[in-house]
Amino acid sequence: MKRVVLKKGKERAIENRHPWLFSGAIHSIDDAIPDGAIVPIASFRNSILAWGYINRKSHITIRVLSFGEAPFSNDTLYLMIQSAIEKRKRDPLLAQTHAYRVIHSEGDSLPGLIVDFYSGHLVIQSLTLGIDRLRDDIVQMLIELLKPESIFERSDHAGRAAEGLEMQCTQLFGTTPDEIIIEENGMRFSVDVKNGQKTGFFLDQRENRKTVRLYARDKQVLNLFSYSGGFSVAAMAGGAQKVVSVDSSKRALELLHKNTALNDIIGPMEVICDDVFDFLPKYQDHFDFIILDPPALAKSRRDIPAAERGYRELHLQAFRRCAPDAYLFSCSCSRFIDMKDFQKIVFSAAAKNGRRVQIVGKYHQPGDHPVNIFAPETEYLKAMLLHVE
Ligand code: SAH
Repeated sequence: MKRVVLKKGKERAIENRHPWLFSGAIHSIDDAIPDGAIVPIASFRNSILAWGYINRKSHITIRVLSFGEAPFSNDTLYLMIQSAIEKRKRDPLLAQTHAYRVIHSEGDSLPGLIVDFYSGHLVIQSLTLGIDRLRDDIVQMLIELLKPESIFERSDHAGRAAEGLEMQCTQLFGTTPDEIIIEENGMRFSVDVKNGQKTGFFLDQRENRKTVRLYARDKQVLNLFSYSGGFSVAAMAGGAQKVVSVDSSKRALELLHKNTALNDIIGPMEVICDDVFDFLPKYQDHFDFIILDPPALAKSRRDIPAAERGYRELHLQAFRRCAPDAYLFSCSCSRFIDMKDFQKIVFSAAAKNGRRVQIVGKYHQPGDHPVNIFAPETEYLKAMLLHVE
């Protein structure tokens, strides 16, 4: 049987159920195996340890789909997709929401596959060649299991370049409308799954929107990097006095206006199209509640030092704009900066600012974006609620 054989002593990752194998761990790959194929992975002594898909172009040569000797088949794939769907259906935190992540890549042991559900419509994102090859089967399974109205592919993630893949955005099933309205914990949002950021909406901030909503009462709120205003609407719904939203994308702010209208918000909402790094030093007002949710400043390990400087600068400026007795809800979605590092950056900005700062709460990605305990890299979103005296 064609197979991949690991170097002597390199079984450790698989024994620990980590889904990635790098070229350095691999002794040999049968030449006849094409990139994208699903292959058995054998130890140096030739016992089959796992099954995964291969791509020689990627620095992660193999991503594991199943552990153990039993071959990974379409039946296995079907059961995994079904299990991911069932968990979402049972999750009490998702009871009041019509939009959630159905499959979260390594988090659901299906590396490279993202599937999001928006009020009956699905968006699928493939990050790897292995998933591209399984795509049509996955689409059929999703149709059978979820009976969606439509499926749209948003495979335009920058990570595809590392797999030697082109971007691919296309209708795969039914007709996806240009605008989908979702309901989330009593709030309504307009989602543009074809052209919006990520697959259209930051579903991963759902629980954090609840926190912001809880703390916003009577506050003057500044929402930095607002995108379509998820946190702005949440703050208004929670009784904020006023919300100022800032984002550099005009398109994002158009969506924000739609979302304000969808939620019958009449309170004062100021919307500013600007680069946050330019805006903060020149804006003089003070706020009781600042939300800071920048894009991932570190997209690779190489970016870490620059990203740390960026986060520090943002926090320095944000602390300066905090009124006495204010809250700062600060997020980082860079997977290369963990909670400890993030806390250190915030600490150094707080120390420079010279005010008493307390951590009131720490938050993570929600359960429909699960962390694979065997692959700690899958934990990417972290947030802190800080009180600034
Ligand atoms: N908080 C949002 C998600 C933020 S995503 C939510 O919960 O939905 C990051 C946002 O930052 C994007 O909308 C992007 O347009 C914006 N952005 C990126 N760089 C920026 C910059 N330098 N200044 C202002 N906005 C920026």
